[in-house]
Amino acid sequence: MSAPATCPRQPPRNTTGTHDPVLEIDLSAVAANTRHFAHTAGGEVLAVVKADGFGHGLDGMARTALANGATWLGATSIAEAVEARAADADAPVLSWLNPVDADVTTACGHRIDLAVPSGRHLAAVVEACTRSGYRARVHLQLDTGMARDGAAPDEWPELTAAARRAENAGHITVVGVMGHLPRAGEPGLPPNTTGPQELLHGVEMARQAGLRPSVRHLAATAATLTDPDTHLDMVRIGAGLVGIDPSGSTRLGSALRLTAPVVQVRRVPAGTGIGYGHTHVTDRATTLALLPIGYADGLPRAASNRAQVMVASRWCPVLGMISMDQLVVDLGDQPVDPDTEAVVFGPGDDGEPTVDDWAHWAGTIPHEIVTGIGHRVRRSIR
Ligand SMILES: *Cc1c(COP(=O)(O)O)cnc(C)c1O
Repeated sequence: MSAPATCPRQPPRNTTGTHDPVLEIDLSAVAANTRHFAHTAGGEVLAVVKADGFGHGLDGMARTALANGATWLGATSIAEAVEARAADADAPVLSWLNPVDADVTTACGHRIDLAVPSGRHLAAVVEACTRSGYRARVHLQLDTGMARDGAAPDEWPELTAAARRAENAGHITVVGVMGHLPRAGEPGLPPNTTGPQELLHGVEMARQAGLRPSVRHLAATAATLTDPDTHLDMVRIGAGLVGIDPSGSTRLGSALRLTAPVVQVRRVPAGTGIGYGHTHVTDRATTLALLPIGYADGLPRAASNRAQVMVASRWCPVLGMISMDQLVVDLGDQPVDPDTEAVVFGPGDDGEPTVDDWAHWAGTIPHEIVTGIGHRVRRSIR
């Protein structure tokens, strides 16, 4: 009689197969894109590394951008700005979206510049600097037509006057004035043509209040690519570094390639309902492949029954609803072996679907696709 099978006391820790879904990140594309912007921009380039470097990994994005012509780093939160500081000890780093009670002392301790969008934010910065003895480097933030972040024009005179008092008292130095454009992908529209004037007017008022901001910045990717009048002293580039051009004017390189293995292949007859809700029913006998990747991994459910992936060099439609962890594609009459690698999207060089295709299928923008890839997808950075 053989001994009963028993579970080992210590289960093996790493059960990751070599064929799990992988997000390959090619930083040479980021390098080339950065060089394009450094060459195009009239002034300096701030690399926007928010949202974990637009889903590409903050550290690699930051280092690559600085090595290829960017001179500043920026992110929304202080936490991500601190990560950016860890990537480079010297480059100026800006954080521009924080609650009033944000940890200003930590930001100053890491030499992070802070955008200040209101009198209450300014008072909090002054208070923190009074306590800590730091002198904060501040960019006054003016709302140039978005009704979003930044001071409304009617709050600007008071904000600049208060900033001047704080500067005189030694708590802050106003180094910059910043704005943001709402419709930069559509050059020629009024918010874009008036944006630079509004920002320069705001700078003029700041100067009249006695401030000497030296870094005026307004443009992000789209405006930088389409309108040199918006460049001023610095441009803030995020999407463009990862190959997204909202203006549709420039061919940039995409850095991402997302693959998943086929885990199962099956032949089904006509009339087979697929997945939750049977939102697709086959109209012929066909062969289905199952991929272990779903909306928890960032593939939008809205792309169900619309998206395609590439399997064995052929585009294969996604059939039925994309599930949390898996999706089904149609191989037609050409089966493949399990473990065949499917390309969900890539730069498009080998004819595979792209991030833009997925955005189109999901009714969204490529930014949402690249920033949405889930944590459990393994990253492979080169
Ligand atoms: C995200 C962001 C950017 C970068 O915009 P892209 O269009 O991705 O280049 C620039 N400025 C601000 C204030 C932002 O929030």
